[in-house]
Amino acid sequence: MQLVIGYLYGDLMNIYGDTGNIIALKKRAEWRGIKVKLKVKSLKSKIKKGEIDLFFFGGGQDQQQEIVATNLITSGKGKIIKSEIDRGVPLLSICGGYQLLGDYYKPHKAAKLIGVGLFPVCTLASSDRMIGNIVIESMFDKLVGFENHSGKTFLKKDAQSLGTVIKGFGNNGEDKTEGCIYKNAIGCYMHGPLLPKNPKLADWLLKKALETKYKRKIELKSLDDTLENQAHNSAIKKFG
Ligand code: GLN
Repeated sequence: MQLVIGYLYGDLMNIYGDTGNIIALKKRAEWRGIKVKLKVKSLKSKIKKGEIDLFFFGGGQDQQQEIVATNLITSGKGKIIKSEIDRGVPLLSICGGYQLLGDYYKPHKAAKLIGVGLFPVCTLASSDRMIGNIVIESMFDKLVGFENHSGKTFLKKDAQSLGTVIKGFGNNGEDKTEGCIYKNAIGCYMHGPLLPKNPKLADWLLKKALETKYKRKIELKSLDDTLENQAHNSAIKKFG
């Protein structure tokens, strides 16, 4: 089997160490004998339907977000990404990437950035900088990460949060929600990078990608996650 991972704007939206998620996905697939092809899809790229099996969209600063938000609309990539998610392709987006997949993001200085409208959420820049370790309760049990954002994201009434904050700020530091999940797409504020310390979530993304691509149920061979679980559990012990 082979997987094509689409790294959205990987040359622009990558300053918070989120590329570590790509490494984790790639290694966890290759350790199971699954070939992985990585495609960075940025300003000049096109995305064809069926080309990408798993999307990743990392964090970035307001300046890059302004460029990327415009490109998502003018290039038509935003529309294609949304239709791919609607047919079950999984996606993980972190912070700045997550914000641009909502309805809009209003930065401090710039005009409102219209989002892709994948997640029913909207984000407003705030004067608080929400930084620190975060632990949430979710459908993947506890998830641990590190957050660094000023944007406050608010879920619209039909939105499903990824989880509930046990420690940290989450979407906005007010309503105890963190992230958003829509079909097999996840948005959240959890840098870290997220996936090396949360192998259950990493494998869920891989499984969903393979099952959507090959149109059948797929069980992933289990890996020795001793180190990953040690990192996960020590973060919970320390912060959760
Ligand atoms: N610029 C956005 C904010 O500060 C996103 C930051 C990020 O991607 N970590 O909220």
